[in-house]
Amino acid sequence: MITIALSKGRIFEETIPLLKAAGIEVLEDPDTSRKLILTTNQPDVRVLVVRATDVPTYVQYGGADMGITGKDTLLEHGSQGLYQPLDLQIAKCRISVAVRSDFDYKSAVKKGSRLTVATKYVAIARDFFASKGVHVDLIKLYGSMELAPLVGMADAIVDLVSTGNTLKANHLVEVEHIMDISSRLVVNQAALKLKQAPMRHIIDAFESAVV
Ligand code: AMP
Repeated sequence: MITIALSKGRIFEETIPLLKAAGIEVLEDPDTSRKLILTTNQPDVRVLVVRATDVPTYVQYGGADMGITGKDTLLEHGSQGLYQPLDLQIAKCRISVAVRSDFDYKSAVKKGSRLTVATKYVAIARDFFASKGVHVDLIKLYGSMELAPLVGMADAIVDLVSTGNTLKANHLVEVEHIMDISSRLVVNQAALKLKQAPMRHIIDAFESAVV
């Protein structure tokens, strides 16, 4: 049995064509099914539906043989012991700093002001501002980061940006592009040794399907 950990939403949807390239079709829709283990047309392949931030943990502890997760999650939650053979070029976005459109970020940085930054990505934000020599107080949030500057709780946010529509709708502007993000295949190394042929088949099919 090969077990693949995926999260619902964009990663799941953009993984469907990759699975298809490996001859795998998921037989249930995670948006309508309440099942957490989904069967596929291959009796020896199943899909686990887990939170995006839990994908590395399932793969690391062998709950899944492989999984797909964003570079943001791997950087933020660690990727110890995980083999990362492929950048799948899916769920692409960027991680950026954004502020209220009336906040003068450039001069605040120039003056050496201490900034309050709200984010889910505390490790990425800490590294980024440290590399710029900007002093920050970080506030950890779990979602809707865009609210924090609007209610005066933070000067800036660090968040994923795709089209920029969410920022625009909340009168925020992007002032720094920290890095580009895409999703990666992560593999449990012990599982790869034990199930080399079927896992290699999937990895190779994914690799040839990456556009
Ligand atoms: P957008 O309005 O298209 O810029 O999307 C921004 C919102 O979608 C933010 O709340 C992000 O946290 C989220 N988002 C954008 N891209 C991704 C992604 N690849 N994975 C997860 N969340 C994302």
